[in-house]
Amino acid sequence: MSRTGVAILGSTGSIGTQTLEVIAQLGEHFNVVSLAAGSNIDLLAKQVAKFDPHIVVARTGETKIGGKRVLPTPDGLIEAVTHPDVDIVVAATSGHEAIRATWAAIETGKTIAIANKETIVCAGELIIPLAAKHGVEIRPVDSEHSAIWQCLQTAQQRDLARLILTASGGPFLRTPADELANVTVEKALAHPNWSMGSKITIDSATLMNKGLEVIEAHHLFAVPYDQIEVVIHREQIVHSMVEWNDRTTIAQLSFPDMKLPIQYALTYPRRLPGPCAPLDFRRMSRMSFEELDPDQFPAFKLARQAGIAGRTYPTVLSAADEIAVGAFLSGKIGFKQIASTIESAVSAHYPETVTDLDVVFEADRWARTYTNRLVGRATAGG
Ligand code: NDP
Ligand code: MG
Repeated sequence: MSRTGVAILGSTGSIGTQTLEVIAQLGEHFNVVSLAAGSNIDLLAKQVAKFDPHIVVARTGETKIGGKRVLPTPDGLIEAVTHPDVDIVVAATSGHEAIRATWAAIETGKTIAIANKETIVCAGELIIPLAAKHGVEIRPVDSEHSAIWQCLQTAQQRDLARLILTASGGPFLRTPADELANVTVEKALAHPNWSMGSKITIDSATLMNKGLEVIEAHHLFAVPYDQIEVVIHREQIVHSMVEWNDRTTIAQLSFPDMKLPIQYALTYPRRLPGPCAPLDFRRMSRMSFEELDPDQFPAFKLARQAGIAGRTYPTVLSAADEIAVGAFLSGKIGFKQIASTIESAVSAHYPETVTDLDVVFEADRWARTYTNRLVGRATAGG
């Protein structure tokens, strides 16, 4: 059996490093063709030494790593994904950097394992039809979408009643609203179940992450917003569910470990021995589900509204969130100001129809400029 060629965009990040762990474990099945990182050159050099890729990309202007030529971003990302030996691209950079490269990968017929949220949130209405046109599979890496993807394989989409995404509720589910103003960066970074990059960890604390996942689910699975629900599930064993019209609900269960959805995206339709321990149902005395209160999590509410409003609103939401989260992490604004900052940006925006990627990037630029000005004026607190 020939080995599957893999390009990893964002190899030094949380998803990227776990992808390489999975590949190291699966050994003979995969061949790392390209590794692309931002500025963590020390880690990239170690990965290059271990996996010996054909193509190495970095953002920082390095020209050589371990005797290999290093290509600069963003053009290097395109070369990394379109190399003839690449079969599957793991799109796991943060931010917008992966969007054009993912586009190019789809046009050259590569399977996409999508982790990067912005690609689907901001450009989903372009990327999904593009993939359909080229007969390209987009396999979700995010645990909720991986779960839904798996559950959807049990019947036909025309018989779908609801998608039910689960949410851990983050560290502040039980924090009274008036105490949220004083939340520290350290507390917000302490996610109860997952270890992830800092942006997505803060998004999990505000539940913006869940809102972005609702928008992604809408695009990835072509399901209207009124058929997508979210339920709080603290234990994070059920990673999401699908309810069919006969009221049968199919759920995907496993320990919370991103290596499992990453592996499934790589090996689909096969299920090879995985990185997870088996669930021991005799020791699972409790599995709880509760309603998500949108008033406790205004960022979630904003995301859902932006998704329903469509056009460039999700792009503005996502860009404003990135700036606001950065401002929170650097102490410029308080925790509650993350949502109010995003709300200001979304309210001030004149939306455009998303006809091509330039419209997305223009809305992104506008939102960043607007939000940077806002957080520049803000004082931490409140
Ligand atoms: P991290 O911040 O841990 O990693 C981001 C990666 O992207 C790093 O390798 C970073 O390089 C690289 N990168 C950033 N900017 C650039 C750039 N301009 N050019 C090239 N590479 C760049 O993020 P995560 O791994 O947590 O998340 C990645 C994506 O996956 C996000 O969109 C996130 O929402 C999504 N996701 C993550 C999940 C998780 O569990 N972590 C779950 C579901 C989705 P470097 O570090 O070298 O600068
Ligand atoms: Mg998720």
